[in-house]
Amino acid sequence: TPLLEIRNLKKYFNVDGKQLMAVNNLSLRIEEGETVGLVGESGCGKSTAGKTIIRLYSPTDGEVIFNGQNIVNLSNREMNKLRREMQIVFQDPYASLNPRMTVEDIIGEPLDLHKAATGKQRKQRIKELLELVGLNAEHMNRFAHEFSGGQRQRIGIARALALNPKFIVCDEPISALDVSIQAQVVNLLKDLQQKLNLTYLFIAHDLSMVKYISDRILVMYLGNMVELTDSDSLYADP
Ligand code: ADP
Ligand code: ADP
Repeated sequence: TPLLEIRNLKKYFNVDGKQLMAVNNLSLRIEEGETVGLVGESGCGKSTAGKTIIRLYSPTDGEVIFNGQNIVNLSNREMNKLRREMQIVFQDPYASLNPRMTVEDIIGEPLDLHKAATGKQRKQRIKELLELVGLNAEHMNRFAHEFSGGQRQRIGIARALALNPKFIVCDEPISALDVSIQAQVVNLLKDLQQKLNLTYLFIAHDLSMVKYISDRILVMYLGNMVELTDSDSLYADP
């Protein structure tokens, strides 16, 4: 059975009393250990789809079956438990990390919220996570604003990993970074996927990068899935 099965997922936003369609009809399966790329032009609904799948947004309609359980109608409390398994790395670490928080507090936040590590264990776990993402554990007490974009995204990745999730939505995790360090961050995510047997939904608009990291690629257009293909056939002659 797949780790995730999404059936006829829809997400509309209410904007000034009008229903705005972001995801119209999305169905897909993701096997455990897979990296599925999600591409498509800006505004086609990729980020909304990713956030709805992990229930940062509640779906308008459809099913999201994670590990055999339909999570669409879970209570907040039940969903909170499941948050350990499903995480996200946001596009812009300048926006998603509070610059005035220390690295220790940023990565410790999910641990505290879920009472996942206390006392000595907490520091040890944060240290481990920093080493895992290639940051010096001695930097734990420094503030997020002291770090470069690439380093901040590593902090964001460490936070997403803190609770040992199975599934991570990587929402354009390198788009906001300087081109010179994009490859490093992609390779870090790729190494972590293998090391920790993670499953990724990898959102991007750069097809060549998605080809590099993904086992297969899903293409969205205007809220719909238009093509599900292995990454090589995207460039092949029709
Ligand atoms: P993509 O990730 O492919 O660029 P998004 O999922 O961000 O696309 O956006 C899809 C559509 O939904 C766009 O029209 C966008 O303006 C709209 N949208 C995204 N997030 C919200 C939100 N929180 N509230 C209202 N509309 C939104
Ligand atoms: P974006 O930057 O893509 O617009 P936000 O920063 O607004 O997204 O975050 C959306 C929600 O997700 C917020 O309520 C935030 O607290 C929560 N959140 C932040 N980081 C994580 C994470 N690593 N895993 C799960 N939820 C998170």
